[in-house]
Amino acid sequence: MRYLVISDIHANLEALEAVLAAAERHDHVLVLGDLVGYGADPDAVIDRVLALPSATFIRGNHDKVGAGLEETDGFNYLARQAIAWTRNALTPEHRAWLATLPQGPVVVDPLVEICHGAPFDEDVYIFDDLDAMRALRASERPLCLFGHTHVPAIFRFDTALRTVDSIRDAPLRLTKDGQSRYLVNCGAVGQPRDGDPRAAFGILDTDTRTLTLIRASYDVATAQAKIIAAGLPEVLAQRLAVGR
Ligand code: ZN
Repeated sequence: MRYLVISDIHANLEALEAVLAAAERHDHVLVLGDLVGYGADPDAVIDRVLALPSATFIRGNHDKVGAGLEETDGFNYLARQAIAWTRNALTPEHRAWLATLPQGPVVVDPLVEICHGAPFDEDVYIFDDLDAMRALRASERPLCLFGHTHVPAIFRFDTALRTVDSIRDAPLRLTKDGQSRYLVNCGAVGQPRDGDPRAAFGILDTDTRTLTLIRASYDVATAQAKIIAAGLPEVLAQRLAVGR
């Protein structure tokens, strides 16, 4: 089975299309939440993912607020501005669909489970080793895929926790020793924050037990122009060019 792993699309249609075009052959798509918020194409992005032949979805914090399930309490100024715009822009059907997205973690198969923030709390950001250890303890599968931080990261635990640095040089080989556990963020499709503006995604092959983190260039200028034209905060357009 080959999975395309995408997260944090954030209503960026150009980035999503570039990822779908760049992704090698796959059987199923895992969508780890935050389809909307920040970008100018929430409806078009939802239409596009609904057209995927085979996909599993979980919700992100922006999806919850965009659907009206939660208020913007935990959001910063920019996120609040953007999600207010998004709620207005979304069709009632798409808002209702967002509200039906399941909360993570969701177990996908014997190897992998998915969550938006962390397996113990969908809204928690995993940045440091402490959070990573907590997440690894809470996960029910050898590989737990997460999003939310918009920063690619690989944590591996066997006898101790290590971060895997060479995340782009070679596919990660998931060892089958019965004790190694992995916690991986493949990065954000629509709003990368690791200094690389290209859209980020992953390809997981459960037969060869490899996970490859990949980047795809996309038409940033068009995504930016749409954000400006929509009247969204300009900084949301600017940050796409620098990946911050
Ligand atoms: Zn996000």
